[in-house]
Amino acid sequence: MKGTILATSTSSVEATSSYPDPCSWQTAMKRSVRSGKALCKRLELPELSHEPAESDFSVFAPLEYVARMEAGNPSDPLLRQVLSTTAESESTRGFLDPVGDLPSQRSNGLLQKYSHRALMITTGACAINCRYCFRRHFPYSDVPTGKAGWAVSLGEIAEDSSIEEVILSGGDPLTLADESLTWLVTKLNEIPHIRRIRIHTRVPVVIPQRVCPSLLSWAQDSSVPIYWVLHINHLNEIDRFVCDAVDRLRQTNTTILNQAVLLRGVNDSSSSQLELCKKLVDIQVLPYYLHQLDPVRGAMHFEVDNALARMIVECLRENLPGYAVPRLVREVSGEKSKSPV
Ligand SMILES: *Cc1c(COP(=O)(O)O)cnc(C)c1O
Ligand code: SF4
Repeated sequence: MKGTILATSTSSVEATSSYPDPCSWQTAMKRSVRSGKALCKRLELPELSHEPAESDFSVFAPLEYVARMEAGNPSDPLLRQVLSTTAESESTRGFLDPVGDLPSQRSNGLLQKYSHRALMITTGACAINCRYCFRRHFPYSDVPTGKAGWAVSLGEIAEDSSIEEVILSGGDPLTLADESLTWLVTKLNEIPHIRRIRIHTRVPVVIPQRVCPSLLSWAQDSSVPIYWVLHINHLNEIDRFVCDAVDRLRQTNTTILNQAVLLRGVNDSSSSQLELCKKLVDIQVLPYYLHQLDPVRGAMHFEVDNALARMIVECLRENLPGYAVPRLVREVSGEKSKSPV
């Protein structure tokens, strides 16, 4: 992996490794690739993974996502997001809790950093493990999950009428069963001061069949508007299955936004970001945030310097309608909002 960090691929690769058989999203979770070794083998690559990094944060990638990687390409921008590498152990730079999640907990699993918005860690599970994840060291096992745990957070939210918006996050809330999500969304609808529900999720991108009738049913039934914030970093992540999933979500009459993380060797070029934003707008997903990396230990090799980040966004501004240009931000602990870069 060394020496080729800036060779960001910008071509759209459609399923070069074979697309897996259709299955339910639950089965897709179960049959995911769970080691760097298995991932390299599948992509006909020599062993590039670094097992010690996996004991700390495992490799996890569904076949639907792996199918969008180009076989034989060690620099594939999707592969780099999920494959463990020696770079993760080489540096001790970065923090275990880079954005001050732990001190901002109002109660176990309920985070509030900004006025009028509270964030619920609904689960520790994700449908993919992104190597740059800012919560890769988060002590999820301490967070109460399930209805009893959520009820405590809901009680807190119900008592504080300054909270207008609840963000369901994690982990990834769409790894929860629809029965649980129906319960949660119904409870939030019963709190009179809640004006918006926001769902931060990467699942529709990773396992598009997760946008299934039972999901659409609770989304449709919510009288409080739902805002979806997807997480797509590269054009190659958007295949036709993802386009269809977004179409299905849009039918619930919601607003769909995207946040991306600027990652060295993955999407750190003007052309890569331009292609991504154009495609997002094509499928009517608005680019919301472009995040500078949170300084989390084990991921500092993904860091892009501010000067390059600003240059990339300047290029977007010159070539896209204003609504298609994401806000370049960094999260600084203790600030009252995400900070513009
Ligand atoms: C990012 C974040 C939000 C949402 O911020 P917006 O600027 O409204 O998108 C809310 N709560 C927490 C804890 C966050 O980290
Ligand atoms: S999906 Fe989000 S929370 Fe889960 S590992 Fe990736 S970045 Fe982290």
